[in-house]
Amino acid sequence: MSKAVPVIIAGAGPVGMVAAADLVRRGIPVTVLEKMNDLSLESRASTFHPPTLDMLDDLGFAEALIAQGIKAPTVQYSTSEDGELGTFNFSAIADLTRHPYRVQSEQFKLTRIICDALKSNPLFTIRFGTPITSVTQDADGVNVGLESNGSAEQCRCDWLIGADGASSIVRHTQQIEFDGFTWPERFLVMTTTFDFESARPGVSSVSYVADPVRWHFLLRIAGAWRVMMPVASEKSDDEATSDAYIQESMGSVVPKGAKFDIKHITLYRVHQRVAKSFRHGRTFLAGDAAHINNPLGGMGMNGGIHDALNLSNRLGRVILGQADEAALDSYDRQRRTVTMEAIQGDTIRNKRNLEARNESDRQQFRDQIREAYSDPEKGRKLLRRIAMFDSLERAASL
Ligand SMILES: Cc1cc2nc3c(=O)[nH]c(=O)nc-3n(C[C@H](O)[C@H](O)[C@H](O)COP(=O)(O)OP(=O)(O)OC[C@H]3O[C@@H](n4cnc5c(N)ncnc54)[C@H](O)[C@@H]3O)c2cc1C
Repeated sequence: MSKAVPVIIAGAGPVGMVAAADLVRRGIPVTVLEKMNDLSLESRASTFHPPTLDMLDDLGFAEALIAQGIKAPTVQYSTSEDGELGTFNFSAIADLTRHPYRVQSEQFKLTRIICDALKSNPLFTIRFGTPITSVTQDADGVNVGLESNGSAEQCRCDWLIGADGASSIVRHTQQIEFDGFTWPERFLVMTTTFDFESARPGVSSVSYVADPVRWHFLLRIAGAWRVMMPVASEKSDDEATSDAYIQESMGSVVPKGAKFDIKHITLYRVHQRVAKSFRHGRTFLAGDAAHINNPLGGMGMNGGIHDALNLSNRLGRVILGQADEAALDSYDRQRRTVTMEAIQGDTIRNKRNLEARNESDRQQFRDQIREAYSDPEKGRKLLRRIAMFDSLERAASL
C-alpha cells in the first residue's frame, strides 16, 4: 500500500473537482480517483446560481465559465391558460452578489476548466479509469481499494470525500441509508435550436410554465434551448424517445406547424433522497452522493458545490492545524439540514406548483407569483430563496 495522502476524493464531477480545487488552494495535496477514462461529457445540470458564481469566482473559475455560457438575468413563471404571471430580475438582489444573474453553462465545462487549471499543480493528482471498489476505515485513516488497468490496488488517506454521484460506493460501503422516494414519471429533456425568443416574445432564458397535463420548463444555453417535461409512467423508454413522441412533445410547446430540430434528448428517472448522515468517521458525502432531487430550480449541483466548499473549508483548517476536529461535526448539521429544508423542500414544491391539477392549488400558485411580482419586498424574498441565498444563510446559522 502506498503512503497515506491527506485527502482522496472519489469522483471527478463538479462537486469533487470544486472540493479538490479549494483544498489545493489551501496548500493541501489531493488525489481524485475517477472511474471513467475521462471527465464526463454528459448533458446534465447547466444552472449556476449567483452565490455559486461568487464562490467559483473566489476560486478563479467564474470568468471562464461565464465566457462559455450565457447570463440569464431573469426568471419567468407562467401558466398555459393565463400566460405570464411574473418575471423576476436578479438585479433586485444585486446588493447580495457580484453576479446578479444565473449562468447557464453545462457542468462538463466547469469540470474541464478546473482540471485544466489544476493539472500542472504538484499538489493535485487525478487518476482516471480507477473505480473505487472498497472503503474501510480505522481510527487513523481510510483504506481505499480500487481497480487500475484490471489490477486491484490499495491506497490510504487521512480523509475521504465521497463525491461519487447518486450510486456512491462510499455511501454504500459506509452503510449510510439513502431514504426518500422516486417520482413515477420520468423527465424528458430535449435540446433544440428552435428560436423561442421569436416564437414567444419576452420569454426569459429560464421560464417555467405550469399546466395540469403537461407542464414544461424552458432553459436557454449557449446556442440552444432545453425543453423539459414529464413523461407519464405508462410510456416505455422506447416510446418516450421515439421520433413520434418527441415531435408530439415539441409540437405542444412550439407554434402549430413550426419547424424545429432536435440536437439531443435525455430521458431520466428522478428521485428525492437524502443520506442519513453526510459524515461517517473519516469519510464524508457531498453532492449527489449525499442528496438527489428533481432539477426544477437547479439546486442539485449548486447545493453539491455548496457542500463541497463548506467541507473543504473545515477539512482544510483541520488538516492545517487551524481548527479542532470538532469543526467537522457541523458539516453534517449545516448541510444536511438545509438539504432537507431548502433543497428537497423547494424542488418538491416547484414540481407540485407546475403540475397542480386542483383549482385551489393552481390559484395559490398564481396568487403567490402575482403578489411577489407586484410587491418588491416579496419579489426580493422570492429571488433570495430561488438563488439559494436563504439556504446558505440558514446553514451558517446552525
Ligand atoms: C441524466 C441526468 C440529467 C441531469 N440533468 C440535470 C439538469 O438538467 N439540471 C440539474 O440541475 N441537474 C441535473 N442533474 C443532476 C446533476 O447533474 C447533479 O446534481 C450533479 O452532476 C452532481 O454532481 P456530483 O459531482 O455530485 O456527481 P456526478 O456529476 O454524478 O459525478 C460523480 C463522479 O463520480 C464518478 N464515480 C462514480 N462511482 C465511482 C467510483 N466507484 N469510483 C470512482 N469514481 C466514481 C462518476 O464517474 C462521476 O464522474 C442530472 C442528473 C442526471 C443523472
